Amino acid sequence: MKDDFVSMASHELRSPLTIIRGYADILKGVSGLSDEDKKNIERIDIAAKGLDNLVADILDVSRLNQGRLSVKIQDTDIKEIVKNIAESYQHNAEEKNLSLHIEIGDVPHIAVDPDRVRQVIVNLIGNAVKYTKKGEVAIKLFVEGKNTVLRVSDTGIGMSEEERAELFGKFYRIRNEETRDIKGTGLGLWITKQIVEMMNGKISVESIKGVGSHFIVKFPVIEKT
Ligand code: ADP
Repeated sequence: MKDDFVSMASHELRSPLTIIRGYADILKGVSGLSDEDKKNIERIDIAAKGLDNLVADILDVSRLNQGRLSVKIQDTDIKEIVKNIAESYQHNAEEKNLSLHIEIGDVPHIAVDPDRVRQVIVNLIGNAVKYTKKGEVAIKLFVEGKNTVLRVSDTGIGMSEEERAELFGKFYRIRNEETRDIKGTGLGLWITKQIVEMMNGKISVESIKGVGSHFIVKFPVIEKT
Protein backbone atom coordinates (compact mmCIF):
# COMPACT_ATOMS: atom_id res chain seq x y z
CA MET A 1 0.00 0.00 0.00
CA LYS A 2 2.85 2.35 0.84
CA ASP A 3 4.51 1.73 -2.52
CA ASP A 4 1.20 2.22 -4.31
CA PHE A 5 0.65 5.50 -2.51
CA VAL A 6 4.19 6.73 -3.20
CA SER A 7 3.81 5.80 -6.82
CA MET A 8 0.45 7.55 -7.18
CA ALA A 9 1.58 10.68 -5.29
CA SER A 10 4.74 10.89 -7.42
CA HIS A 11 2.75 10.69 -10.63
CA GLU A 12 0.39 13.40 -9.34
CA LEU A 13 3.37 15.62 -8.49
CA ARG A 14 4.72 15.32 -11.98
CA SER A 15 1.92 17.14 -13.79
CA PRO A 16 2.10 20.40 -11.83
CA LEU A 17 5.88 20.26 -12.06
CA THR A 18 5.72 19.94 -15.82
CA ILE A 19 3.40 22.94 -15.89
CA ILE A 20 5.73 25.03 -13.68
CA ARG A 21 8.69 24.17 -15.91
CA GLY A 22 6.72 24.91 -19.06
CA TYR A 23 5.72 28.35 -17.84
CA ALA A 24 9.24 29.11 -16.62
CA ASP A 25 10.38 28.28 -20.13
CA ILE A 26 7.81 30.63 -21.67
CA LEU A 27 8.80 33.40 -19.24
CA LYS A 28 12.45 33.04 -20.24
CA GLY A 29 11.50 34.05 -23.78
CA VAL A 30 9.65 37.23 -22.75
CA SER A 31 11.34 40.37 -24.04
CA GLY A 32 12.50 43.23 -21.84
CA LEU A 33 13.25 41.16 -18.74
CA SER A 34 15.61 42.70 -16.21
CA ASP A 35 18.65 40.70 -15.07
CA GLU A 36 16.93 40.23 -11.74
CA ASP A 37 13.83 38.79 -13.47
CA LYS A 38 15.98 36.40 -15.49
CA LYS A 39 17.76 35.22 -12.37
CA ASN A 40 14.44 34.63 -10.59
CA ILE A 41 13.02 32.64 -13.50
CA GLU A 42 16.20 30.58 -13.58
CA ARG A 43 15.74 29.87 -9.86
CA ILE A 44 12.19 28.63 -10.48
CA ASP A 45 13.44 26.41 -13.28
CA ILE A 46 16.34 24.95 -11.28
CA ALA A 47 14.15 24.28 -8.23
CA ALA A 48 11.44 22.63 -10.35
CA LYS A 49 14.02 20.52 -12.18
CA GLY A 50 15.52 19.39 -8.85
CA LEU A 51 12.07 18.42 -7.61
CA ASP A 52 11.35 16.63 -10.88
CA ASN A 53 14.55 14.58 -10.53
CA LEU A 54 13.66 13.73 -6.95
CA VAL A 55 10.19 12.57 -7.98
CA ALA A 56 11.71 10.49 -10.79
CA ASP A 57 14.05 8.80 -8.27
CA ILE A 58 11.18 8.10 -5.86
CA LEU A 59 9.16 6.57 -8.71
CA ASP A 60 12.10 4.37 -9.66
CA VAL A 61 12.55 3.20 -6.08
CA SER A 62 8.88 2.23 -5.84
CA ARG A 63 9.09 0.47 -9.23
CA LEU A 64 12.20 -1.42 -8.13
CA ASN A 65 10.63 -2.35 -4.78
CA GLN A 66 7.62 -3.77 -6.56
CA GLY A 67 9.64 -5.42 -9.34
CA ARG A 68 7.88 -3.17 -11.86
CA LEU A 69 10.91 -1.46 -13.36
CA SER A 70 11.40 -2.77 -16.84
CA VAL A 71 14.28 -2.15 -19.23
CA LYS A 72 13.86 -2.10 -22.98
CA ILE A 73 17.11 -3.58 -24.21
CA GLN A 74 18.13 -2.57 -27.72
CA ASP A 75 21.16 -2.10 -29.90
CA THR A 76 22.57 1.22 -28.64
CA ASP A 77 25.30 3.59 -29.76
CA ILE A 78 26.82 4.32 -26.37
CA LYS A 79 29.45 6.68 -27.87
CA GLU A 80 26.87 9.30 -28.84
CA ILE A 81 25.13 9.07 -25.50
CA VAL A 82 28.31 9.48 -23.44
CA LYS A 83 29.53 12.33 -25.66
CA ASN A 84 26.28 14.29 -25.41
CA ILE A 85 25.95 13.90 -21.66
CA ALA A 86 29.61 14.65 -20.98
CA GLU A 87 29.43 17.81 -23.09
CA SER A 88 26.30 18.93 -21.31
CA TYR A 89 28.31 19.01 -18.05
CA GLN A 90 31.01 21.28 -19.48
CA HIS A 91 29.23 24.39 -18.24
CA ASN A 92 28.69 22.95 -14.75
CA ALA A 93 32.33 21.96 -14.53
CA GLU A 94 33.55 25.36 -15.71
CA GLU A 95 31.42 27.08 -13.11
CA LYS A 96 33.30 25.10 -10.45
CA ASN A 97 36.64 25.70 -12.13
CA LEU A 98 37.04 22.02 -12.90
CA SER A 99 38.47 20.75 -16.12
CA LEU A 100 36.43 18.11 -17.90
CA HIS A 101 38.22 15.57 -20.10
CA ILE A 102 36.30 13.41 -22.49
CA GLU A 103 37.96 10.50 -24.27
CA ILE A 104 35.68 8.38 -26.39
CA GLY A 105 37.18 5.38 -28.13
CA ASP A 106 35.75 3.57 -31.09
CA VAL A 107 33.54 1.19 -29.13
CA PRO A 108 30.88 -1.02 -30.72
CA HIS A 109 27.17 -0.76 -30.00
CA ILE A 110 25.94 -2.46 -26.82
CA ALA A 111 22.67 -4.06 -25.79
CA VAL A 112 21.11 -1.75 -23.19
CA ASP A 113 18.07 0.44 -22.61
CA PRO A 114 19.22 3.83 -23.99
CA ASP A 115 17.11 5.89 -21.56
CA ARG A 116 18.28 3.89 -18.58
CA VAL A 117 21.91 3.96 -19.62
CA ARG A 118 21.54 7.76 -19.94
CA GLN A 119 20.27 7.86 -16.37
CA VAL A 120 23.32 5.89 -15.19
CA ILE A 121 25.78 8.17 -16.98
CA VAL A 122 24.06 11.36 -15.79
CA ASN A 123 24.22 10.06 -12.24
CA LEU A 124 27.92 9.20 -12.36
CA ILE A 125 29.10 12.33 -14.15
CA GLY A 126 26.76 14.47 -12.04
CA ASN A 127 28.21 12.97 -8.85
CA ALA A 128 31.80 13.39 -10.07
CA VAL A 129 31.21 17.10 -10.64
CA LYS A 130 29.18 17.46 -7.46
CA TYR A 131 31.73 15.79 -5.15
CA THR A 132 34.84 17.42 -6.65
CA LYS A 133 36.02 20.77 -5.36
CA LYS A 134 39.14 21.21 -7.45
CA GLY A 135 41.00 19.51 -10.24
CA GLU A 136 39.32 17.47 -12.92
CA VAL A 137 36.67 15.04 -13.99
CA ALA A 138 37.68 12.58 -16.72
CA ILE A 139 35.27 10.46 -18.72
CA LYS A 140 36.67 7.60 -20.74
CA LEU A 141 34.89 5.05 -22.92
CA PHE A 142 36.88 2.10 -24.23
CA VAL A 143 36.86 -1.62 -24.91
CA GLU A 144 38.67 -3.97 -22.55
CA GLY A 145 38.53 -7.66 -23.38
CA LYS A 146 34.89 -8.59 -23.84
CA ASN A 147 33.53 -5.45 -22.23
CA THR A 148 32.74 -1.89 -23.15
CA VAL A 149 33.93 0.16 -20.21
CA LEU A 150 32.88 3.59 -19.04
CA ARG A 151 35.16 5.12 -16.45
CA VAL A 152 34.24 8.33 -14.67
CA SER A 153 37.18 9.61 -12.66
CA ASP A 154 37.46 12.62 -10.42
CA THR A 155 39.96 14.32 -8.16
CA GLY A 156 37.21 14.89 -5.60
CA ILE A 157 36.69 14.23 -1.92
CA GLY A 158 36.93 10.45 -2.34
CA MET A 159 35.90 8.02 0.38
CA SER A 160 37.30 5.60 2.95
CA GLU A 161 37.14 1.83 2.64
CA GLU A 162 34.25 1.61 5.12
CA GLU A 163 32.30 4.28 3.25
CA ARG A 164 32.96 2.55 -0.04
CA ALA A 165 31.53 -0.70 1.30
CA GLU A 166 28.14 0.96 1.90
CA LEU A 167 28.14 3.14 -1.19
CA PHE A 168 25.49 1.37 -3.27
CA GLY A 169 23.07 0.99 -0.36
CA LYS A 170 19.61 2.54 -0.50
CA PHE A 171 19.59 6.05 1.05
CA TYR A 172 23.29 5.80 1.90
CA ARG A 173 25.10 9.13 2.04
CA ILE A 174 28.55 9.82 3.39
CA ARG A 175 28.10 12.35 6.16
CA ASN A 176 31.06 14.51 7.10
CA GLU A 177 32.29 18.11 7.05
CA GLU A 178 32.95 17.97 3.33
CA THR A 179 29.56 16.63 2.30
CA ARG A 180 27.55 18.71 4.77
CA ASP A 181 26.55 21.38 2.27
CA ILE A 182 26.08 19.05 -0.70
CA LYS A 183 22.46 18.11 -1.25
CA GLY A 184 21.25 14.64 -2.18
CA THR A 185 19.07 11.71 -1.18
CA GLY A 186 21.43 8.75 -1.37
CA LEU A 187 19.15 7.09 -3.93
CA GLY A 188 21.13 7.73 -7.12
CA LEU A 189 23.82 5.07 -6.77
CA TRP A 190 21.41 2.46 -5.44
CA ILE A 191 19.12 2.94 -8.46
CA THR A 192 22.16 3.08 -10.75
CA LYS A 193 23.47 -0.27 -9.53
CA GLN A 194 20.06 -1.94 -9.87
CA ILE A 195 19.56 -0.78 -13.44
CA VAL A 196 23.14 -1.50 -14.53
CA GLU A 197 22.67 -5.08 -13.32
CA MET A 198 19.26 -5.36 -15.02
CA MET A 199 21.08 -4.55 -18.27
CA ASN A 200 23.70 -7.27 -17.65
CA GLY A 201 26.34 -4.76 -16.61
CA LYS A 202 28.56 -4.37 -13.59
CA ILE A 203 29.49 -1.30 -11.58
CA SER A 204 32.44 -0.88 -9.28
CA VAL A 205 34.33 1.88 -7.55
CA GLU A 206 37.93 2.61 -6.68
CA SER A 207 38.51 5.51 -4.37
CA ILE A 208 40.95 7.08 -1.95
CA LYS A 209 39.78 9.61 0.60
CA GLY A 210 40.99 13.09 -0.28
CA VAL A 211 42.42 11.95 -3.61
CA GLY A 212 39.44 11.03 -5.79
CA SER A 213 37.26 8.28 -7.17
CA HIS A 214 36.85 6.15 -10.27
CA PHE A 215 33.42 4.71 -11.06
CA ILE A 216 33.64 1.89 -13.57
CA VAL A 217 30.69 0.48 -15.51
CA LYS A 218 31.13 -2.54 -17.78
CA PHE A 219 28.71 -3.90 -20.37
CA PRO A 220 29.41 -7.02 -22.39
CA VAL A 221 30.28 -6.44 -26.04
CA ILE A 222 27.59 -7.95 -28.27
CA GLU A 223 28.87 -11.27 -29.64
CA LYS A 224 28.69 -11.37 -33.44
CA THR A 225 26.91 -14.50 -34.65
P1 ADP B 1 23.41 11.56 -3.41
O1 ADP B 1 24.45 12.21 -4.24
O2 ADP B 1 22.00 11.98 -3.74
O3 ADP B 1 23.68 11.65 -1.95
P2 ADP B 1 24.15 8.94 -4.50
O4 ADP B 1 23.43 7.65 -4.26
O5 ADP B 1 24.35 9.37 -5.91
O6 ADP B 1 23.34 10.00 -3.67
O7 ADP B 1 25.56 8.82 -3.80
C1 ADP B 1 25.64 8.29 -2.47
C2 ADP B 1 26.80 8.92 -1.72
O8 ADP B 1 28.03 8.49 -2.29
C3 ADP B 1 26.85 10.42 -1.80
O9 ADP B 1 26.06 11.00 -0.78
C4 ADP B 1 28.32 10.72 -1.60
O10 ADP B 1 28.62 10.76 -0.24
C5 ADP B 1 29.01 9.50 -2.21
N1 ADP B 1 29.52 9.75 -3.57
C6 ADP B 1 28.88 9.49 -4.74
N2 ADP B 1 29.65 9.81 -5.79
C7 ADP B 1 30.82 10.29 -5.29
C8 ADP B 1 32.05 10.79 -5.86
N3 ADP B 1 32.23 10.85 -7.18
N4 ADP B 1 33.02 11.18 -5.00
C9 ADP B 1 32.86 11.11 -3.67
N5 ADP B 1 31.74 10.66 -3.07
C10 ADP B 1 30.73 10.25 -3.86
